[in-house]
Amino acid sequence: MSEFVAGAHVSSSGGIFTAIENGEKIEAEAIQIFASSPQTWRQTNHKPDAIAKFRDLHTRSAITDVWIHNIYLANLATEDPEHLNKSIDSVQFALRIAEMIDAKGVVLHTGSHKGRGMEAVIDQVSDALVTIIENSPGKAILALEDMAGQGGQIGKDFGELGALLNRVQSERLQVCLDTCHAFAAGYDISSSDGINVAMTEFDRVIGLEYLAVVHANDSKVECGGLRDRHENLGEGHIGSDGFEAITAHSAFQGKTFLLEVPGFKDAEGKANGPDLENIRRLRALRSGLPISADA
Ligand SMILES: [Zn+2]
Ligand SMILES: [Zn+2]
Repeated sequence: MSEFVAGAHVSSSGGIFTAIENGEKIEAEAIQIFASSPQTWRQTNHKPDAIAKFRDLHTRSAITDVWIHNIYLANLATEDPEHLNKSIDSVQFALRIAEMIDAKGVVLHTGSHKGRGMEAVIDQVSDALVTIIENSPGKAILALEDMAGQGGQIGKDFGELGALLNRVQSERLQVCLDTCHAFAAGYDISSSDGINVAMTEFDRVIGLEYLAVVHANDSKVECGGLRDRHENLGEGHIGSDGFEAITAHSAFQGKTFLLEVPGFKDAEGKANGPDLENIRRLRALRSGLPISADA
């Protein structure tokens, strides 16, 4: 038996409050949403009544934690000052919305040094993180996500995130561990030995107490493949055994798992992202059963 919250990324198109119903439809116990369309800089104007409706529906639902994923365009390691300012502003916006909807925090892809190396950008990135936190009063966490490592992405190695946390020294700056990204980056978490090695390293360079939230995704790409291709739980290279080992590991007890998987095809042959079947698989794992079991 293990203990974690089985959640998922859900759509909030048509109003931020729709996310609660979308989460309930797939029996998600926690949700992650975008506060704005992830591929544009334009910030959604969430009206006070939409925020109030979100809070009301959330209170009356079984959903516990809410997380916001920052837009994908942000890059705190960019060489372009205008891009940097827009990136900082996007994170501050997401943290403001997080406070309004009582979300736990914001998950951020820190950025890419585009091959220049971490040393070339660490001052700029840590200064930007300090600015963001100073400009964002409240208690929402900013969780830097580990990345698959494509194109000089910061967070391929846990040590890069640890170095940033060390510089910034804020209790509010923590880490989101994406299982697919860690695997693609070369941490072989498909076995209990592998997950032990990876989490010992995480503890050494970051600290397990800074693990804020988990993105639970299987990987279409082999270990070390450096590409970010999510797969449904148990259907990828991490596989059922891998997820049994991950969910049983002590580092993940009490954490929130958020699915960002493609989903299984419905009767019309359409996959719609995180679905009830993936949630059901998480619940099977939580009961100490194989992914295929009915839990
Ligand atoms: Zn992400
Ligand atoms: Zn990913």
